[in-house]
Amino acid sequence: MSNYQVDKKGFYGEFGGAYVPEILYKCVHDLQEAYLPIIESEVFKKEYHALLKDYVGRPSPLYYAKRMSQRYGCQLYLKREDLNHTGAHKINNTIGQILLAKQMGKTRIIAETGAGQHGVATATVCALMGMKCEVFMGATDVERQHINVERMKMLGAEVHPVRTGNMTLSDACSEAIRDWCCHPADTFYIVGSTMGPHPYPDLVARMQSIISEEIKWQLEEKTGRDYPDYLIACIGGGSNAAGTIYHYMDDERVKIVLAEAGGHGWNTDHTAATIHRGTTGILHGAKMLVMQDEDGQIQEAFTISAGLDYPGVGPMHCNMAKQGRTEVLSINDDEAIRAGYELTQMEGIIPAIESAHAIAALSKISFQPSDIVVLTVSGRGDKDIETYLKNKDFAQHEHIQISD
Ligand SMILES: *Cc1c(COP(=O)(O)O)cnc(C)c1O
Repeated sequence: MSNYQVDKKGFYGEFGGAYVPEILYKCVHDLQEAYLPIIESEVFKKEYHALLKDYVGRPSPLYYAKRMSQRYGCQLYLKREDLNHTGAHKINNTIGQILLAKQMGKTRIIAETGAGQHGVATATVCALMGMKCEVFMGATDVERQHINVERMKMLGAEVHPVRTGNMTLSDACSEAIRDWCCHPADTFYIVGSTMGPHPYPDLVARMQSIISEEIKWQLEEKTGRDYPDYLIACIGGGSNAAGTIYHYMDDERVKIVLAEAGGHGWNTDHTAATIHRGTTGILHGAKMLVMQDEDGQIQEAFTISAGLDYPGVGPMHCNMAKQGRTEVLSINDDEAIRAGYELTQMEGIIPAIESAHAIAALSKISFQPSDIVVLTVSGRGDKDIETYLKNKDFAQHEHIQISD
């Protein structure tokens, strides 16, 4: 039995559970009963894997990054989730959840989104399946992420700007839950990360576990060994990290390093480093580490990276960090920007600013030359070009010179 998987009651150690309003109780309970039999059925698996292959473009390559390996003194392999259709790992999850929704006879899809990446991934699979899609998005984010709003609309989704609170991701989640309460019978809520009430964290982790399933055979093929010495991923809500580590959680030979968004520094007021800064609380249906003040008021998260901008972090990761199974590093904005430029100039890969946080972790670990390191590039950086340009001073003094 795994120490880190969800238990029968929906908990990971002290974290998780399903803290939902009375009106959603039946809905959440139905989902708890339905999800495993459906996603483990042959019919589901067949359709899910066919779509991952021909629609998403999986398996995503495991690429040996030669120049970066030399620079950091290790054997670095990049898991290329940036090459998926729609440009990130999020589509692995939305494909799985929409198939589950269909099997459960739901006709209307809702989702929350911050930067718009999960909204786009949800609108995409709704277009694919011909289902009605409504996306809740903080009004501040609607303005900041104009292109993603237009992408969602073009895909046929209705985007609802949310004007409560800070008008960002956390408020969009609350509004999606409120909507779900009003339409529990016909609506399926596609949650975007390993958060929300049980069974969502487990469901999302399973949908993303295709990442480590592939890493296993790809590593075996490339190195003759199916496990790495290190796994590295960035962590917001925790879904790409969960997928990256899923099949290695109980394998103590594998060290796990996760990079959360430090913003201006985890010990400042401008941070999203939830595992460093959070205390136990309940947010969006689960018990987890949350950035909150002494009265339990949720504090706004701050980071240059819209995809990591959430004041909580999934319960599975809260537990693993607390048990000491994962090492969590706080990476500041300037370090992420520098790392993003570095990967671009050394390997010709422009990473999402979220993924750049994972790249920045490389310089904080002392490797042995023989260490096999797998780092997940969760998404591509096309959406972040303006952010990179605005902050390029951070990268300037770092001129990269290396010979082959
Ligand atoms: C949304 C997003 C993340 C953060 O979400 P997780 O659930 O922690 O994976 C990271 N990278 C990219 C590219 C994203 O779009």
